[in-house]
Amino acid sequence: MRPGLIDGFGREITYLRVSVTDRCNLRCSYCMAGEVSFSPRRDVLTIEELEFLTSAFIACGIRKVRITGGEPLVRKGVMHLFQGLSRHLKSGILDELCMTTNGILLAKYASGLAECGVRRLNVSLDTLDRDRFAEITSGGDIDLVLKGIDAARDAGMAVKLNAVAQKGYIERDAEALVQFAQDRHLDITFIETMPLGEVKSNCADHYLPLGELRQLIERRWRLSDTDESTGGPARYVRVDDTGGRIGFITALSHCFCESCNRLRLSATGALYTCLGHEDFTDFRAIIRQQGNVTSLEEAIHSAVAAKPKSHDFGTSPGREPALKRQMSVLGG
Ligand code: SAM
Ligand code: SF4
Repeated sequence: MRPGLIDGFGREITYLRVSVTDRCNLRCSYCMAGEVSFSPRRDVLTIEELEFLTSAFIACGIRKVRITGGEPLVRKGVMHLFQGLSRHLKSGILDELCMTTNGILLAKYASGLAECGVRRLNVSLDTLDRDRFAEITSGGDIDLVLKGIDAARDAGMAVKLNAVAQKGYIERDAEALVQFAQDRHLDITFIETMPLGEVKSNCADHYLPLGELRQLIERRWRLSDTDESTGGPARYVRVDDTGGRIGFITALSHCFCESCNRLRLSATGALYTCLGHEDFTDFRAIIRQQGNVTSLEEAIHSAVAAKPKSHDFGTSPGREPALKRQMSVLGG
């Protein structure tokens, strides 16, 4: 029996998000600034280091791993990481291996991911309008994402859509997105914009409390509250007519920290125990300088013990702290 990871506030930590690159093949306005600087390659963990470190977290009690980015599928060798980690699914020590992707390269990798035991994927899609998609992502081709979603479903994976609710955009797109999800029996989650990084699109200008978005969706569908959870911060409602599920991630208007079960590892080996704090533990230094499993496990337990009680984004957009780290460093 593994001892498990319990933080200083009694929360059991079972979920690790691993960013495998801070690079991306898109430039979403709320995520990456015009001039983006990426980590030098020597600072980025190798696929072997990522697998070693992730496996150490699993040995300490992590039961769910999500691979993210930047865009995870642009990382060379990422399928070797999935193949390596899939052994923990087979042994039963890991419950779930999943990924968040923008879907651009998904058609190519879907069947390989399914073979590695990936059962669920989050695909980011903020609009179904071709031109608005290109505008939000700085030139992305929505057809590739739609093909990726089809390929993932054909390979037997459950796809959940993630849409960032940007005021001035989502009002026009929410209805079509919800319809698209209902037609395909997909979950869809709307995410409030979070103030991370110095990005092109100012979070305060595009901040829409999701309560307002819900009212907008309710003009067309009847929604019922549920207490369902997928182990994440989303609150879910059911669409009465279709039985479909819509999630709302309200990072700013409702704090969900009391039930936080997650850790985030950057591609350079920095472990963040909270998305809303700058403090991190440098696991690259620990594995490159020491490489000793006992000290690694000790470092994991002490980082978890020091996990902050709550993010400090503030509850109103006017009180945002200027966190310099972009979302693409940790992948949400
Ligand atoms: N590239 C992949 C993707 O887009 O799905 C994975 C990384 S991306 C950083 C992870 C998620 O963070 C995406 O769903 C994206 O929409 C969301 N995201 C990025 N910047 C955000 C922001 N400022 N506020 C809220 N969500 C954001
Ligand atoms: Fe890339 Fe994802 Fe950020 Fe968009 S949200 S720029 S796809 S990392």
